[in-house]
Amino acid sequence: MNIGLFGGTFDPVHRGHMALARTAAEHCKLHRIYFVPANLPPHKQRQPLSPFVHRFAMLALATSGEKAFVPSMLEAAEDPAAGARRDCREKPNYTIDTVRRLKQSLKTSDKLFLLIGMDAFADIAKWHQSEALFRECEFIVASRPGYSLADVANALPERLRPRPEVTRPFHSQPAAGDLVLPGATIHLLGDLRQPASATAIRAAAAAGKPLGRFVDAAVADYIRKMGLYK
Ligand code: ATP
Repeated sequence: MNIGLFGGTFDPVHRGHMALARTAAEHCKLHRIYFVPANLPPHKQRQPLSPFVHRFAMLALATSGEKAFVPSMLEAAEDPAAGARRDCREKPNYTIDTVRRLKQSLKTSDKLFLLIGMDAFADIAKWHQSEALFRECEFIVASRPGYSLADVANALPERLRPRPEVTRPFHSQPAAGDLVLPGATIHLLGDLRQPASATAIRAAAAAGKPLGRFVDAAVADYIRKMGLYK
């Protein structure tokens, strides 16, 4: 089976995330996608994050209508009380560890794909053991307008990055299609035209504005009921 892993803070999950997952499922024939909320994301530790349990609950609501979309506890704190306290001794969640943990539960014939937006992919070379990540799975990247194939190739960890003379013609090519390089396979989805962002949603919730345009109705209800982002 083709399996997708979609990690993020999902604070909250929104229509942009769902569009990415649906398009990826169609493009790469994914049989299942695990949505993995990070307990302690390495790159967002300085900004306040809603408790894991709320982010997980919203994911469960948003994915309930899609058989193939599964909310995952792979990055939940081993000691939930520590997660609630946002205990500094808790280790951050590195994607490479999550990928390896998920693979232990898969068959050797299963193929794993990592789903990611272009803004996050642009920093991929800085991720913990990023080269190993490309060995463990193929990538599905949702591009944004203005990104070229060269931006995608140049974002790769140094040892996987093609030489400049190879990427030069990529500058005039939009980030679309499949990029197959020694050590890295990247499927590009093109622009999904879903500009939702969790930051804008939190601001809209704080201002008491309606959220139905950006999130599933059940998620909007949950945000209101629980008084999140006030
Ligand atoms: P924030 O605004 O808090 O930074 P976010 O909306 O970017 O959050 P994350 O949970 O950080 O959401 O994102 C998880 C993944 O989804 C990332 O790989 C990100 O690039 C991707 N993503 C987020 N929003 C969109 C969108 N509108 N279209 C496509 N991909 C998206």
